[in-house]
Amino acid sequence: MEYEGTLYRPPSEAYSLIIQVTIGCAHNRCTFCNMYREKKFRVRTKEEIMRDLDEARAMYGPMVRRVFFADGDALVVKTETLLELLAYTHENFPFAERISSYGTAKDVLRKSEDELRALAQAGLELIYLGAESGDDRVLEHINKEVTAAEIVEAGRKLKRCGLKTSVTLISGLGGRKGIREHALRSAELISGMNPEYASFLTLRLYEGTQMNEEVRRGEMELITPDEIVEEMELFLGHVDSPGTVFRTNHASNYVVLAGTLNDDIPAMLKRLEAVKAAKRYRMEEWRRHI
Ligand code: SF4
Repeated sequence: MEYEGTLYRPPSEAYSLIIQVTIGCAHNRCTFCNMYREKKFRVRTKEEIMRDLDEARAMYGPMVRRVFFADGDALVVKTETLLELLAYTHENFPFAERISSYGTAKDVLRKSEDELRALAQAGLELIYLGAESGDDRVLEHINKEVTAAEIVEAGRKLKRCGLKTSVTLISGLGGRKGIREHALRSAELISGMNPEYASFLTLRLYEGTQMNEEVRRGEMELITPDEIVEEMELFLGHVDSPGTVFRTNHASNYVVLAGTLNDDIPAMLKRLEAVKAAKRYRMEEWRRHI
């Protein structure tokens, strides 16, 4: 089984069998992202995907507990194709407990509720949805081509249809001018969606991206670790999403937090205060190289 290009997966899919259902990202225009720049988007044929599943069964069969459909937004694929792939995956990996994929808000909104329910019944359990921010100005700036209201609607639709959601946001994405609005609107977004999981990455710049050039030209200011903590304090001080499992455990983060909203908010705020006082942030070189 050979993967095409660089492979990306969420931290919680570290031990999953990864199957490329698509190559690249159908959107591929976010100004901060370089993940799929080298790939021309395409949906792989069923034959290609099933061949990978056959090979994986021969190598790992009964050991597979989780399967992740890559690349950038496998949910863009036609529902009938996904249903066939889900059935084939379950047939070949009877011990698989979870199948998940990335999906954009637009992918979710494009599908009918009947289609999403059918996917849930066929065993698609979790959608990783990169919201990045709840602030419409930030979403426009990064070229996400979706509004916060649409993201909230997508999250609610997934929930109604029996699919779990893991939402990702990015600390520092609004730059210095946007700290407050990015934090408050992101808190509103999570409160409006009440997803099963929510997490923050921290902005890192990559050569060749539009955002890297904006920072180089002085049009956007990156924020310091102290300001990242202040932004997070604002977020945690305003979010209301009981039961959401919350993490900032990505390699890009200066501070690792783990808890469940809303119960663990006081403990997480206390940790932020202690880390800021002692300036115990993950070192820049570790953020770059992990
Ligand atoms: S952030 Fe997500 S949607 Fe945007 S270009 Fe990157 S992979 Fe595609």
